[in-house]
Amino acid sequence: MVRHCPRCELRFRDDSELKQHLVFDHGVDPEKLERDQYPPADTR
Ligand SMILES: [Zn+2]
Repeated sequence: MVRHCPRCELRFRDDSELKQHLVFDHGVDPEKLERDQYPPADTR
C-alpha cells in the first residue's frame, strides 16, 4: 500500500520509507512517530 506523506505531496512504498522521509526531510522526532500516527502539519 502506498503511504502518502501528511506534510507534503510525496508518496512512499511503505511505512518505513515514509518514516525516514518525515525524520530527515521534515525534522520529525522518530520517537513521536511511534507514539502518534503522523500528526498533520496544520489542521488547526
Ligand atoms: Zn513529506
